[in-house]
Amino acid sequence: MKKIEMKTPLVEIDGDEMTRVMWADIKEILLKPFIDLKTEYYDLGLPYREKTGDKVTVEAAEAIKRLGVGVKCATITPNAQRVEEYNLSQMWKSPNGTIRAALDGTVFRAPILVEGIRPVVSTWKKPITIARHAYGDVYAGVEAYVPEGGRVELALPNGERKVVKELKSGGIIQAMHNTDESISSFARSCFNYALDTKQDLWFATKDTISKTYDHRFKDIFAEIYQNEYKDKFEAAGIEYFYTLIDDAVARVIRSSGGFVWACKNYDGDVMSDMLATAFGSLAMMTSVLVSPDGKYEYEAAHGTVTRHYYRFLKGEATSTNPVATIFAWSGAIRKRAELDGLTGLADFADRLEKATVSTIESGIMTKDLIGLFDKAGVTPAGVNTTEFLNEIAKRL
Ligand code: NAP
Ligand code: MG
Repeated sequence: MKKIEMKTPLVEIDGDEMTRVMWADIKEILLKPFIDLKTEYYDLGLPYREKTGDKVTVEAAEAIKRLGVGVKCATITPNAQRVEEYNLSQMWKSPNGTIRAALDGTVFRAPILVEGIRPVVSTWKKPITIARHAYGDVYAGVEAYVPEGGRVELALPNGERKVVKELKSGGIIQAMHNTDESISSFARSCFNYALDTKQDLWFATKDTISKTYDHRFKDIFAEIYQNEYKDKFEAAGIEYFYTLIDDAVARVIRSSGGFVWACKNYDGDVMSDMLATAFGSLAMMTSVLVSPDGKYEYEAAHGTVTRHYYRFLKGEATSTNPVATIFAWSGAIRKRAELDGLTGLADFADRLEKATVSTIESGIMTKDLIGLFDKAGVTPAGVNTTEFLNEIAKRL
């Protein structure tokens, strides 16, 4: 069989643990036999980040800026325990944080719907897409532990000093930021995405408590909506709706879905895991980072599945769900095909997704989905990751 041609390489960003193992298997079983896979490879596995002093992460982000489309495997964000486990010279920053900061994008996450897996929330009939602001706030925070206590101040460029706290004894402090520019591009990406997909847009912050910081987000969204999108939204018959984050959470649970929920960086991190789990599994969630100038990074929304990896290291075949990682590849391939005008390649991306979904719908799935699966006339069978990938390949 002649392999499907590619033109421009994808930026391939490898990662850690169980997802690194699946990454290699997906390429061998589902991609290389069918397409003439072209990638520019960056190894963001923790050992190589350590070896390069994390330079490889910056290079990967630069490559996405240059080539336009990247696909990323889940990576470890080191904490104290990882520093010991991997004998690190530093507690390297979150690679996702570094890449997101470089691309200044918005992350859109939507569940992969499969017949037979019903959302935990019975009123949800349509997918809920989370648009996560991928720049700043606590992810670009500066923190300190002040064991001796003392006066902590914010020094502003105009010379003003604001007292954060007179610490009587040891305490912790944090400063974070965002920019008008980044918030504005976040707002525009969300308004555009809502228009493209003809869905309402919801946005929420805690502006009653954070009267300057969160309020700035609210104001920028309102202003851009009023000046640039109100007419287009009305013409498309969709709505922009702002509320407080706690009210939004309550409304989301009561909703029937079918809207885009714009979230600040941390809210998006937390809420996307909740939504993914409620829609089925964290492994059934697509995720794409879109920069304001149209660069794309596709990834899975889950982590490196450490617990499974430790079992894999003991020689066990694990039943880790590769669906989100497969959809990261198919999403990136489809976007690359679109940019390069390659219909055969775009068609392959569609077929790969269909084959994946139909494998599950036929009753063959990884064990995380078994308890969720309920389809008349189909008895689900749990298989390990490699068996699952081979079943998909048979349907391609
Ligand atoms: P995780 O890797 O998402 O896994 C948490 C649990 O969720 C797993 O133990 C597993 O549950 C279940 N799970 C997640 N993905 C699954 C899949 N594909 N198939 C089957 N089950 C799946 O989160 P974590 O354990 O909190 O984090 C592990 C590492 O990932 C950390 O070092 C963290 O820094 C990193 N991380 C990376 C990213 C990223 O690069 N995008 C995102 C989040 C976390 P059971 O064990 O019960 O089966
Ligand atoms: Mg997260």
